[in-house]
Amino acid sequence: MGNMENEATVIVYECVRCGARVPTTDIELRGGEIKCTVCGYRVLKKIRPPIVKRVKAI
Ligand SMILES: [Zn+2]
Repeated sequence: MGNMENEATVIVYECVRCGARVPTTDIELRGGEIKCTVCGYRVLKKIRPPIVKRVKAI
C-alpha cells in the first residue's frame, strides 16, 4: 500500500497486563500483529490519546 502518514489518527493500545502503551505504528513494524511489545501479551485495549477540545466559554 502507500506510505500515507496519519499522525493525526494514531491509535494507541494499552496492555491489560503490564500497562504498556503501544502505538499502532509500533505494532505495524512488528508484522501487524496486535501484541504488547513489552511483555508479549495479546490482550490490549484501545485507548485514545487525549484530545484537546477547544470549548468556547459562554
Ligand atoms: Zn504488556
